[in-house]
Amino acid sequence: MIEKYIRRKLFLWYKKNYRDFPWRHTKDPYRIMIAEFMLHRTKAEQVVHVYLEFIEKYPDIEILARANFKDIKKVTEHLGLHWRAKHFSEAAKYIIENHNGEFPEDYGKLREIPGAGEYVAGAISTVCFNKPAPVVDSNIARFINRYFGLNLSGEIRRKKKIVELSAKLFEYKNPGKLLFAIVDFTSLICKPVKPLCDKCLLKNECRYINGPSPIIWS
Ligand code: SF4
Repeated sequence: MIEKYIRRKLFLWYKKNYRDFPWRHTKDPYRIMIAEFMLHRTKAEQVVHVYLEFIEKYPDIEILARANFKDIKKVTEHLGLHWRAKHFSEAAKYIIENHNGEFPEDYGKLREIPGAGEYVAGAISTVCFNKPAPVVDSNIARFINRYFGLNLSGEIRRKKKIVELSAKLFEYKNPGKLLFAIVDFTSLICKPVKPLCDKCLLKNECRYINGPSPIIWS
């Protein structure tokens, strides 16, 4: 089946090209949530030192929930996008008040965390609880759109076909590892501009460079 083929090729590439980041050494949902909040619209390399400083200052959710918002903002403001500072505080308080400080494993409940949304809930679900979830951000959506020749435009990560194909791709025994592989692949190879198709292990059948005949997902 084609999803198996794609995963196999992605893992082959990932084995030699994976990027090592501090949040890839943990399955703690608190740390994954913090990392994903920071990674939103920000390059991973820029996030590393802010993430490490944040985790040192706020090592667990109870400490973060009690923290002063202005102090939190002082750490996160290095990333720009000041609006996201409130996510850290609100999410921590929400988990304490609604789940006794324990992250729920249910994807629907994870989505209810303030600031989390589909992608962060999907990342926690796959990486921390090993549960497949349709993880889609703009990068994953772009890869699926190109590979399957869907030719969708606009905010494609919300399109039904993209979400369905992502769900099939992540229906796998180690969805967290797959997420890291796709994140790196879409950052380094299937880039937004000038994708490196010559170096891509999927180039032989990718519709982006082989014409419009749609691939049938069985
Ligand atoms: S061949 Fe090019 S467009 Fe297709 S998946 Fe690879 S990098 Fe992306």
